[in-house]
Amino acid sequence: MSVHWLLLLLPVAAASGWAAARYSSPRSSAGREPPVDRYLEGVRYLLDDQTDRALQAFIEVVEIDHETFETHLILGRLFRRRGEVDRAIRIHQNLAARPTLTDVQRARATFEMGRDFLLAGVLDRAEAVFRELVDSPSMGVPALEGLRSVYETQRDWVHAVETGLRLKAHGVASEGLRIAHYECELALLELEQDRPDRALSHVDRALGLCPGLSRALLLRAEVAERNGDVALSIRLGREAIERTPALATLVVPKLERLYLNSGLPGATASLEDTLQALASTHKITVASIALMRLYRRTNRLEEALTQLHRILAQRPVPTSGLLEAVRWMKILPAVHTYSSEFAAFEKALMEQLRSQPLYQCTNCGYQGRAHVWQCPSCRRWDTLRGIDLDLDQPPNQTFKTP
Ligand SMILES: [Zn+2]
Repeated sequence: MSVHWLLLLLPVAAASGWAAARYSSPRSSAGREPPVDRYLEGVRYLLDDQTDRALQAFIEVVEIDHETFETHLILGRLFRRRGEVDRAIRIHQNLAARPTLTDVQRARATFEMGRDFLLAGVLDRAEAVFRELVDSPSMGVPALEGLRSVYETQRDWVHAVETGLRLKAHGVASEGLRIAHYECELALLELEQDRPDRALSHVDRALGLCPGLSRALLLRAEVAERNGDVALSIRLGREAIERTPALATLVVPKLERLYLNSGLPGATASLEDTLQALASTHKITVASIALMRLYRRTNRLEEALTQLHRILAQRPVPTSGLLEAVRWMKILPAVHTYSSEFAAFEKALMEQLRSQPLYQCTNCGYQGRAHVWQCPSCRRWDTLRGIDLDLDQPPNQTFKTP
């Protein structure tokens, strides 16, 4: 059980224990354990992470004392946590229908029902429940957060923006970044429809909310490239990577391609400067390897080998560096006799490289090979960063979100 979950439950538990103590003693004469003792036992089971036993204890408390509001809430949450969402919904529905509840209690029970529907994937019901609560003085903000989750799941970015702005008006500090990403999602949809002007207006709104947001800069770079303005696209790509160096895995291949295909005077020298800055200032392996490839491509073999030595001096040695070393050796005349062995080394290293994750979430630790702007695990935005293994991606990769 996470600490967060315990922190959520304990104040409720304390209040309920007190409530149970107040109301339960006259009913303990039937030979059953008094609810307050059984209740505390349930809390102890929760602390020991024994969910099944805790659940049994709370069921018994509810059987003896039907009026205990907080215990019903805990019971509902426990069922939901175990994946028994139908039972959680029944508990919260019955609870919310009680005529004796205060407005605050009814709002809490209704909100829990909304969370049940959300988890069950019954999004229209979840939306209806949360909408009912958005003006509630006690549950308005959680209900808006619930609504926002519904719209994120549905990828309904227009309503997500609208809900985010309402949350922002309530002073929810992190909302600006989320809304900026919703605007970027809308920009992408416009780009897919080949409407770059409309895309740019969403990008501008994103930058208004989060000045310098790398994703928005990359979208602007995408529009610039489509408009044939390669120099602007390169400048925006460089700005994005300078602001967020850990996105190098995503951006360096694109920059390489843009520079080398640009036909701009001094393109190679500019690329070299950019890669050198990334490799030396930010110690980014993908930039070091791209720099080495650039040296090799331009026949500066001594410099390329020096660069390779630097990469191999890193600890742990990046697999991508080993792969480059093997590729070097393959072209040496002395090893031609062993070309099939070197091909096998190369294949093994490439397989290893392809099985390694490229990105990691800085919030929850999720790892994956594809870059996405919203973590699939913790649902936070803009938390995936390059693990810095290798580019090893096709040269025609674009800035688009997968
Ligand atoms: Zn995450």
